[in-house]
Amino acid sequence: MAFEGLTERLQGALSKLRRKGKVTEADVNQAMREIRLALLEADVNFKVVKDFIKVVKEKAIGTEVLESLSPAQQIVKIVDEELTKMMGETAVPLNKSPKIPTIIMMVGLQGAGKTTTAGKLATYLIKNEKARPLMIAADIYRPAAIDQLKTVGEQVGAPVFEMGTDVNPVEIVRQGLAQAALQKNDYVLIDTAGRLQIDEALMQELADINDLARPNETLLTVDAMTGQAAVDVAEGFNSRLDITGVVLTKLDGDTRGGAALSIRAVTGKPIKFTGQGEKLNQLDVFYPDRMSSRILG
Ligand code: GDP
Repeated sequence: MAFEGLTERLQGALSKLRRKGKVTEADVNQAMREIRLALLEADVNFKVVKDFIKVVKEKAIGTEVLESLSPAQQIVKIVDEELTKMMGETAVPLNKSPKIPTIIMMVGLQGAGKTTTAGKLATYLIKNEKARPLMIAADIYRPAAIDQLKTVGEQVGAPVFEMGTDVNPVEIVRQGLAQAALQKNDYVLIDTAGRLQIDEALMQELADINDLARPNETLLTVDAMTGQAAVDVAEGFNSRLDITGVVLTKLDGDTRGGAALSIRAVTGKPIKFTGQGEKLNQLDVFYPDRMSSRILG
């Protein structure tokens, strides 16, 4: 299960404090060393860990916490609050266009779960907003991607605009948007090409689609299982595309959690959704406070 190791280690460090009646500065320092190691082992970015430990320590030692009636409990609360802050404090909703359609461009490396997430997002919008999304199949390099999107579209009841694999993706998007305008779709989800790694040709293509479509939301799908690599990918995409949000997929797997805890702090971009399984309804809005509670167990 996700975060298992991290939860266990954090609980271990904090329960030692709980067992003590009076907590000293040395106890706090010891707990912070253990928490620091736990976070690093969970693959959290080292600078994020450093800042986190510094703030928690200052808050725990620098105020009346140690003299209070329940110092351990208050330190747990501080850790909880700072973990929540690390992940962005509050849920950030989808950016919407004042007039239809709201255009959402899905980007990400191959295998991260982009096409699946496009389907999940369509499902979410249909269910929660009674939306009428149109999905555009602009990944022409992986022929199976178009069929995959069409299958997903049929399952969720969302039309898929496609022009096969012989047309330039920018042109596909142009015509797809024209179709959405005709049909008055309120959302357009653009499924773009992925690669095994970031390369210039891909980034150029995405930048061209971006210039044409001017999406309200550029959602980067990253695989939580890849840890720090997910954070590097997010930085790479963000430097070219100005992503507006992140979907962290495969949180149902046994990820150590580093990506969930670092992406916001490193890139400044909010995690908006998490993928919790392969099924189309397994997409959750990301609430930093709930995730923190889950991590603390
Ligand atoms: P794409 O290449 O980025 O479009 O990736 P796909 O959407 O084809 O997904 C790649 C694989 O990851 C598929 O087998 C999906 O079923 C799986 N997948 C996607 N999201 C999740 C998730 O949140 N949890 C799990 N367990 N699997 C997922």
